[in-house]
Amino acid sequence: MKVLGLIGGGQLGMMITEAAKKMPEQISGVIVLDPTPNCPASKVGAKQITADFKDEKAILELADQVDILTYEIESGNSDVLKQAESKTEINPSPETLRIIQDKFLQKSFLAENNIPVTEFLEIKSLEDIKEKINQFGYPALLKARRDAYDGRGNYRIKSPEDIQLAYNNFAGKSLMLEKFVDFKMEVSVIAARNTKGEIATYPVVENIHENNILKITIAPARVSEDIAKQAEKIAHQTMQVLHGAGVFGIEMFVTRNDQVIINEIAPRVHNSGHHTLQSSKTSQFEQHLRAILGLRLGDTTLVHPTIMYNILGTGEFSGKYRISDFSQDNLYLKMYGKDESKPQRKLGHFNLVDQNNTLGVQGLLESLETITKKIKFIQA
Ligand code: ATP
Ligand code: MG
Repeated sequence: MKVLGLIGGGQLGMMITEAAKKMPEQISGVIVLDPTPNCPASKVGAKQITADFKDEKAILELADQVDILTYEIESGNSDVLKQAESKTEINPSPETLRIIQDKFLQKSFLAENNIPVTEFLEIKSLEDIKEKINQFGYPALLKARRDAYDGRGNYRIKSPEDIQLAYNNFAGKSLMLEKFVDFKMEVSVIAARNTKGEIATYPVVENIHENNILKITIAPARVSEDIAKQAEKIAHQTMQVLHGAGVFGIEMFVTRNDQVIINEIAPRVHNSGHHTLQSSKTSQFEQHLRAILGLRLGDTTLVHPTIMYNILGTGEFSGKYRISDFSQDNLYLKMYGKDESKPQRKLGHFNLVDQNNTLGVQGLLESLETITKKIKFIQA
């Protein structure tokens, strides 16, 4: 029996906590570190230490109280986690986290291991951008190397006039430049590696973003068998070279000429894996726990085609809200217990499941269109 520590208690931490509660023989309790009082994970039974994710004292205090430590965010302080390793087992390892949390180190690591990635270059100055962008042409993307999410760390440089603006946008941050990929589709693979080195991957899914935020995941992705195989192979190779244990979300592009390349890796359960709660025998949350506990990994077969739809706060208002009723038999709604809505805030998601395997992805998409018309936010 182990006490599980969790850095980050948002919706991912909440769903990890729920999975942990279903494993009472292995996990006796969950303690979460999160700066927001009554964070989503605490609402489903995790004990909470209320402090910043990077608070050294709080991280070490958490490490003292738990037998095994993991996280739902990639911005943790890997140096402090390295110190905490003497107190408790941490997975994925702080060394894996250190590589992944810096997009430049991450891509360099993948490229060194012959895993296909977007073309990229390190940027040290304004002059550097002016010179190196000629290798890629326009548009190109200037990216903050660390602490980016929901596309907030990206600036698209469309012409030479944008260079200065792009540079100013990231005052003081370490940067990299990427060639713009004119992709056909964004896909991802949820992959797991347990502490004993066993690897498992879920079938590739298709991701549709709106304003840089994931809106819809379609499982399985509408791709050829060849592309599905490439994606799975790349995910497998990645897990072999990255020595971390846990679940990883591997985001990829399918290019115009049907090549699959990695965009980025998240060292944690991933929004594009939420469909597994209903579509698969093993959810990504249970899989993550199995991986870090060194249990045999669960079955990753996609049993039912499923569409995951993110419920995001609307632009219309912020504050306490209610949501209209759009329930139906094959719709599994999961709200994250966030009382207040803000524009674009991830408030919940639902999975629309092809329970009898008769609708197919096309049928699910048609049904989704009817459902989304019924979703209304009501000020509470
Ligand atoms: P998130 O938290 O949304 O996963 P992030 O802020 O870390 O993401 P990225 O994943 O690097 O940012 O980029 C966000 C989105 O921007 C991608 O999903 C993709 O749509 C687009 N994008 C990123 N890099 C490129 C590229 N090199 N070429 C074309 N589009 C890109
Ligand atoms: Mg991303």
